[in-house]
Amino acid sequence: VTERTIALVDGTDATRRRWLKAAIAAVVAFELTAAGVLVTTHRAERRPVTATDPRRDATRPKADSAERQVAARAAAVTALLERRAAAIRAHDKPAFTATLDLTQSAFVKRQLAMFDALRRVPLASWRYELSDDRDVPPESSYFARYDTEAWSPRAVLRYQLKGFDDAPTAAEQFFTFVRRGTRWLTANDADFPDVSDRQTARDIWDFGPVEVVHGTRSLVLGHPGRTTLLRDIARQTDAAVPRVTTVWGTSWARRAVVVVPDTEKELAAILGDSTDLSNIAAVAVAELPDTGTGSHPVGNRVIVNPPNFRRLGTNGRRVVLTHEVTHVATRDSSGPGVPTWLVEGFADYVGYLGTGLSAKAICQELAADVRAGRRPAALPGDDDFSGKNDRLAQAYEAAWLGVTLIAERTGRAELVRFYRAVGAANGREPLRDAMTAELHTTPESFTAAWRKYVVEQLA
Ligand SMILES: [Zn+2]
Repeated sequence: VTERTIALVDGTDATRRRWLKAAIAAVVAFELTAAGVLVTTHRAERRPVTATDPRRDATRPKADSAERQVAARAAAVTALLERRAAAIRAHDKPAFTATLDLTQSAFVKRQLAMFDALRRVPLASWRYELSDDRDVPPESSYFARYDTEAWSPRAVLRYQLKGFDDAPTAAEQFFTFVRRGTRWLTANDADFPDVSDRQTARDIWDFGPVEVVHGTRSLVLGHPGRTTLLRDIARQTDAAVPRVTTVWGTSWARRAVVVVPDTEKELAAILGDSTDLSNIAAVAVAELPDTGTGSHPVGNRVIVNPPNFRRLGTNGRRVVLTHEVTHVATRDSSGPGVPTWLVEGFADYVGYLGTGLSAKAICQELAADVRAGRRPAALPGDDDFSGKNDRLAQAYEAAWLGVTLIAERTGRAELVRFYRAVGAANGREPLRDAMTAELHTTPESFTAAWRKYVVEQLA
């Protein structure tokens, strides 16, 4: 998976860039350790939900009548989406079907399958908003196959999973609406296969029937035929929650949603990520608010990659899920000022806690480097956590050692206070400020101590 830097303060249109998707991925290197599996991890980011559209100017109405027509169309489509959402919430299939253009049989078939799949998903809310963002479809051949007026404004689906989402999470939708006589109907949601910023967000219910397993602290959404795996994941996630709370404290939701696609292709489609996921065991994603809004991340999900996850032993699954649940817990404090070594090192610190694995077992690649005389000079930079880094394992191991050093020498409570302080810092140097305040050291002194610790632990 390619590392993409989160563009929290970037953007020519900052007010529109309200939400960003961030993914924190666990990359698993399939190398055996004493305990069975070596786990390394890596953070990736999602594309922003919104972007500017250079075609906007073309929308400017030329006359009053045109303006009225545009307003009438928007009102009709808004009402159509309200009927669609109400039908989904009420499990009313005839009402849902009545919003579809029945001449589009392949789309109708996909939509009805999605409708059925949603039936078992516990929803607390489900609604759509039309956006004036990118409301003009390209004046091109995209709609040629419709023999009537067609329109594809950007829409946003906002929904909550009951008992798990405190606030709605947003998913972009690019429906095509067509006019049939006086009515507008939904005709497709995938008319722009080659336009990267006009892709409808997909979720597990777009890929077949959904099976739901309720744990005591978890909600697991997967597909039928995988009940054993889904139950195991629910049990492991339930067990991970108190482990994370023991270290991080109780100031988080203490529950997690885990999504279990059937294939890597499905995982990629849900993530909206076309890069190589073949080394990914699981990812943690959330919607991050833009900086300065004071709002919290929503839509926390752990998504596993079953082909890889199934290859993990019990210990590997435990470490991966505890690592991902740690990301869920710390999300509020893992803003852009927090270096990746701290985010990933902390998730691995919690992940490995209580497994009985030694430093040499956890840090095999780095230990080999140290024995060969290659001693790391500095803590890994954010770029070192790129999936393209062929020394990715060493980056995670180095980060784990950095966090473990703080916990051992200063204390676990101090480690947590330090993490929160970096996340909350507003200055130009959040890490330095938090190290001074919470650890009574400087990045330079800490790096020197860490270099010594690496050799002590691994030589
Ligand atoms: Zn991670």
